[in-house]
Amino acid sequence: MSKLNLIGLPKSELETRLQDLGEKRFHGRQLFKWLYSVRQYDFELMTDLSKELRDKLSDSFEISGLKAEDHKISVDGTEKFLFRLDDDKPIETVVIPSEEEDRRPSAGSGRNTACISSQSGCAVGCFFCATGTMGLLRDLTAGEIVGQLMFLRDKYGPSAFSNVVMMGMGEPLLNFENVINAIRIMTDEIGLNISPKKIVLSTSGITPKIKKLAEEKVGVRLALSLHAATQEKRQVIMPIAKTFKLDNLMKAVRQYADSSKLPVTFEYILFDGFNDTRQDIEDLSRLVRGLRCKINVIAYNRVPGLDFKRPSDDKINWFGRELNQKVKAVTVRQSRGRDIEAACGQLAARKFEKDRVSAQI
Ligand code: SAH
Ligand code: SF4
Repeated sequence: MSKLNLIGLPKSELETRLQDLGEKRFHGRQLFKWLYSVRQYDFELMTDLSKELRDKLSDSFEISGLKAEDHKISVDGTEKFLFRLDDDKPIETVVIPSEEEDRRPSAGSGRNTACISSQSGCAVGCFFCATGTMGLLRDLTAGEIVGQLMFLRDKYGPSAFSNVVMMGMGEPLLNFENVINAIRIMTDEIGLNISPKKIVLSTSGITPKIKKLAEEKVGVRLALSLHAATQEKRQVIMPIAKTFKLDNLMKAVRQYADSSKLPVTFEYILFDGFNDTRQDIEDLSRLVRGLRCKINVIAYNRVPGLDFKRPSDDKINWFGRELNQKVKAVTVRQSRGRDIEAACGQLAARKFEKDRVSAQI
């Protein structure tokens, strides 16, 4: 029988497990610290636990992290890791160096952003997204979510990244419980000790789960993948928009901003000839009026086989400038790592396509 992997268990569950072994609960806390804060994965070397307890632990449990199958580095310094999970499902993790200083994570600038996955594939099926074409393969466990960050720290040290965005594969709010458990491990002072303000959860807009997220009071920043400023337009590119209507969704987003006291980010992919006109700017600025927010204008990253076009650079800059006249914080985000297919919405599809072809043969 395989042993239970401790990575990803909530602190309280570690305490209970220790109690079940006839030990004091506080040893669970010590174990938690070894795993995430010290990153010691050998029970034998957990020196403040008795020899007897260490033996008991290694008889009952294992500590097993992620193994990278592939690693690519972009000309701009962005790095992409492909992991195969224990059941062979693929996920990808991207490390993006800060734009001011194009430095690789290995250089330890400490200003990198780790872009992590919450699911293998995604069921939401936005029409423009490569991950969406895969469908959902499965939810990640909390251990597989935090495992991506542990892998990066093991490889590049404590300054491997300073910010975390859940913008890799998957819809985090459709894997709610595991994502919340992972966030609690990330933000725990004796866990990965990442400030919740440095974590962004990006969602396609699962209204009831945004409300639930506010109730959990985890304090992370919320990003909404908006991409169109009216119900009519949004549902053309995002089928989920038919289920969760824009007016209710915006109410939940405003409530989240109020209760978290943090500005919300709106992601707005520009598609050539679809959502890039003056009228769209009007609609967008009206939609976010009075809300403390930031709008990230993202140029569409082409996905082979999908029927969307990226606007010209002039058009993208014009849109950003004009929108900025009406909404204070607008950034036009340069895609990073496009040459290694690490940019938003490009994840894992290629490798997956290959697998699908070989599976058919
Ligand atoms: N499922 C979540 C988080 C992962 S997607 C969400 O949708 O928010 C992360 C971001 O990449 C989202 O804003 C998504 O809309 C965007 N994205 C998807 N495909 C893209 C593409 N081809 N070009 C640019 N951005 C894309
Ligand atoms: Fe899923 Fe996000 Fe891609 Fe939509 S954009 S299919 S929600 S990963």
